[in-house]
Amino acid sequence: MPNKRDYYEILGVSRNADAEEIKKAYRRLAKQYHPDMNPDNREEAEEKFKELSEAYAVLSDAEKRARYDRFGHDAPGGFGVDFSRDFGFGGLSDLFGDFFSDLFGAPHGGRETTQRGADLRYDMTITLEEAYHGVERPIEIHSRVTCGTCRGSGAAPGTRPQTCPTCYGRGQVRVQQGRGFFNMVSITTCPQCQGTGQTIPRPCPECRGEGRVLKTRRLTVRIPAGIEDGARLRMTGQGEDGFRGGPPGDLYVYVRVQEHEYFERRGCDLICELPISFAQAALGATINVPTLEDEEPLTIPPGTQTGTVFRLRGRGMVDLRSNSRGDQHVVVRVVTPTQLTPRQRELLQEFAKESGETLSDSAKPKGFFERVKDALSDMVNPDE
Ligand SMILES: [Zn+2]
Ligand SMILES: [Zn+2]
Repeated sequence: MPNKRDYYEILGVSRNADAEEIKKAYRRLAKQYHPDMNPDNREEAEEKFKELSEAYAVLSDAEKRARYDRFGHDAPGGFGVDFSRDFGFGGLSDLFGDFFSDLFGAPHGGRETTQRGADLRYDMTITLEEAYHGVERPIEIHSRVTCGTCRGSGAAPGTRPQTCPTCYGRGQVRVQQGRGFFNMVSITTCPQCQGTGQTIPRPCPECRGEGRVLKTRRLTVRIPAGIEDGARLRMTGQGEDGFRGGPPGDLYVYVRVQEHEYFERRGCDLICELPISFAQAALGATINVPTLEDEEPLTIPPGTQTGTVFRLRGRGMVDLRSNSRGDQHVVVRVVTPTQLTPRQRELLQEFAKESGETLSDSAKPKGFFERVKDALSDMVNPDE
């Protein structure tokens, strides 16, 4: 074939490079010219990649290499590695699916031995006051972190992980089943290295070769004011550390907001009940109403009925999105006195008499339903 480049030159290694050097050079260059890594000039990368793979296929095979050293490209019988012919090079997927995955494990850089750390969950309960103001909470997380002794490699200090001899670092092995014309080839995780592509001859004594150790970490969770019950906060990178230097997972903090004794929350609004006396309801009053901040005076007009709702503007929860505040709704309950002093009893009897009310049914000046009707017509809320 005309103008074929020298295989050693393609791989950038010397003529007496050993197998390990050749493999290393190939790995480095194959990654560099991987068409997926060169989206802007895929075609050129594809050509380079083909050339590279062909050179490697010959030089990594002792018998072919010997013939190449002796005869060069014109070796009798060739090398049986013309990629454009043998691999139906129309689509790169052929190459990735077969040859490439043979060398690298799964396609698309699957040889990586690292693994992202797991996400973690932490459940937390806060009070409504804390949800109102926002709060910072120190927490303790028990999780796997990168081992400080081996820095995550899993190998004892002074030693290094080795390329797995079973899968040659691919992390995967090909299993061939069937015979004759039909051959089923499946690729499975390497049983020796569990897919990491590496074995550790002398495991780190601290982590026993795992590269991570269980540790308790302390961190502070910042809970924003206005957080809702059931909300989930994501703390990026605060999950488990990655395996073999992989990125860490995330920590998810699930927040429960406790029910409050007096306040009920509806969205950003707060609702509370205000018990007032019959006299306060009838005569009107100014009452200090508790809020989650402090307290606020509320003026109740004379003749207020039970169930009337007053609104304290801007005394509700802050809205996380709009940053505006909800209101506090105060529902008035008129409380009927249960224990009267003799004097109070006397006054109320007089009050009833003045109103023309009957306290015993014997006189029957009006029928029951008539009195209900009267009462309802009095109950026209001056406020609403
Ligand atoms: Zn270790
Ligand atoms: Zn292996």
